[in-house]
Amino acid sequence: MTSEIYLDANATTSVLPAAAASALHAMGELFGNPSSTHYTGLRAKDMMASVRSRATRLLGAGHGQLLFVSGATEAIQTAVLSALCAVRERRQRGETTGQLLVYGATEHKAVPESLAHWNRLLGLDLELRVLPVDTQGQHDLDALRGMVGDAALVCTMAANNETGCISDLVAIEEVLCVAAVRPLWLVDCVQALGKLPLNLAATRIDYAAFSGHKLYAPKGIGLLYVQADAPFTPLMAGGGQEAGLRSGTENMAGIAALGAVLEALEDGHTFRSHGTLVRLRDELANSLRAALPGIVFNTPLAKTLPTTLNFSIPGVSSKELLDLFDAAGVRVSSGSACSAAKAAPSFVLEAMGLPAWQAASAVRMSFGPATSDELISAACARIAACGAILRASGLAQPSRQTNTEDGVVQFSDDGEYAWLLLDATSRSCIVVDPLEALEPRLVTYIDSHNLGVLAVLTTRADAEHESARSALARRLGLRLDDRAKAGDGDGWPTGCGAITLANGSVASALALGQLSLARFEHAGSKAYLLGRPIHGHMPADAVRFAFTADTAVGAAITQRDGGPVASASLLQLARVMQGATVLCRSRDGRGHLASTLQSEMVQTSNAEEEDMHLRSATLDAFLELHADALLVDVREPFELLAGPAPCKAGHEAVHVPLSRLVNQLDTWLQGTPRPLVFVCRSGNRSGKAAACMRRLGYGQAWHLAGGLALAGR
Ligand code: PLP
Repeated sequence: MTSEIYLDANATTSVLPAAAASALHAMGELFGNPSSTHYTGLRAKDMMASVRSRATRLLGAGHGQLLFVSGATEAIQTAVLSALCAVRERRQRGETTGQLLVYGATEHKAVPESLAHWNRLLGLDLELRVLPVDTQGQHDLDALRGMVGDAALVCTMAANNETGCISDLVAIEEVLCVAAVRPLWLVDCVQALGKLPLNLAATRIDYAAFSGHKLYAPKGIGLLYVQADAPFTPLMAGGGQEAGLRSGTENMAGIAALGAVLEALEDGHTFRSHGTLVRLRDELANSLRAALPGIVFNTPLAKTLPTTLNFSIPGVSSKELLDLFDAAGVRVSSGSACSAAKAAPSFVLEAMGLPAWQAASAVRMSFGPATSDELISAACARIAACGAILRASGLAQPSRQTNTEDGVVQFSDDGEYAWLLLDATSRSCIVVDPLEALEPRLVTYIDSHNLGVLAVLTTRADAEHESARSALARRLGLRLDDRAKAGDGDGWPTGCGAITLANGSVASALALGQLSLARFEHAGSKAYLLGRPIHGHMPADAVRFAFTADTAVGAAITQRDGGPVASASLLQLARVMQGATVLCRSRDGRGHLASTLQSEMVQTSNAEEEDMHLRSATLDAFLELHADALLVDVREPFELLAGPAPCKAGHEAVHVPLSRLVNQLDTWLQGTPRPLVFVCRSGNRSGKAAACMRRLGYGQAWHLAGGLALAGR
């Protein structure tokens, strides 16, 4: 599963060969400056004019202007500036204007950011107002009716980039037209181009933005439509190109390429028909349904672009699915490309009011209208293989997973952590600090590993964590041990034994295989200590893990005279565990995976992490110099099943998934130091692992920056 299947066309597309050829032709034969009046310039100008007239015809731009710009962000910028300058002029003439800048809740960030930016720069003090959408992503027309009387500008999109949801522009137009003073209207048409019919001049749209790279043209070329009577203010002044509306020598290679794409749109055979695209989308959807039972499509397919699928799978995060598909050579995205680097759930799905798990598990699969049947068939085969891997790894239902290992598993959601303490022999576990967003993942994991749950606990006192704790306990039903069901308000089971801690106090303790989990209440906080007891005692050096709330430890350090000072809470923990005990927090505002008591007492700086990055070009030299280096692959097991593991001949390599890294920390910290080189898909997780080791005082930790993606595999 190594050849690449690109299904992320809403982020960008490859360049159509005819478009690349046109660009090359424009750079070679037609290299003239279209403003020059000699033959060379005139030929270039003619090419530009013919692309513009083709675009005018295709988009139905009528008497409106079509300007070549760098892309949709510039088009949106110019439209917003134009509309706001018009508001300013009206105010200056003493006319009344609307006070609201209305934008759809699911707009691309370019829209609200431009509105806020120009509103601030022009000192207009207008109010930005979000137009809500319903659970299907459709604009709330009643809310729009309530705003339209006071709106200066309304911004909506023709189709959403994350979900493919098609807006009802006709209905929006009807609402706008009944307003006493019709607000200006900007429509982001980026995802509609080539997928939906457009006839701009027949509508009341004032501004429409387009981007070439979403439809097989190169990056850096786009279009702005300006309706014939709409106010206009240039964003860029200078040599007066584009009839003075957009200065700067035109991107002729981009324009030529865009021209070739528009020509292909008209030729009737390069792009697939709407019906064919629907068939291809349905093939993909059916293969997803078969491979991933429980899949939920996040918008009704009938109201979405035929080239976009947005779905969630209970129990599997967006990040996990993306890692799996990427390892299998299928490029998909967890939302918009601009925000994909962040782990945050999709704001689009949140705006639609979908449940937290759906927003946190969303994956977008999108293809361009020139996609072949063969690509979709190959994608369906890979999807089937990925589904089998997910089920075999116990991440999706129904699962065949039987391989259960002892230890602590870390589940993370946006800087918050839930922990699963697992005993393989008895097939039992304890859950600490579950979160609402992680509930489906925890349930799937527990079900697929066929685990009994001895307790569901939380170290946090707030209502949100307590409700997530009791909700999970309820959801687990028969899997939850009766003693836990009869337990106290904190979920602590009845009938627990007692254990003497290192400070001499006696704590209630729950057995987990050979280990015990002791409840330790200190300085108003709660911690759970996991270790191997010796004859009813839990000496400090027997405590391997301490589960705590962030407030119990993070806020425990205060700086005095520049040095760290332990709070009462930390000092009390220090009396019952050793310096090397791994602290597992419910949340770590610093983004650390885990820490130790010892590392909390030492002031660390980011400088320690500065030289931990190895580039793929220098990795071989590094490994040659450090023959004893250990390569640590921190990808999750399902990724290894989908794609070949990294191997560097002659070097020992181990697999320690990041979700289980905490189990390894003390072994590495207490063993003979040797260079550790962490690797993963993108360099993100390996960076976290290396930074974690460095902060724990292990100087010989490095990682492969840029990940395996840049290392050629
Ligand atoms: N609007 C939408 C709906 C988009 O999908 C994008 C691209 O991500 C943009 C605007 C920004 O386009 P560009 O990259 O051309 O600036």
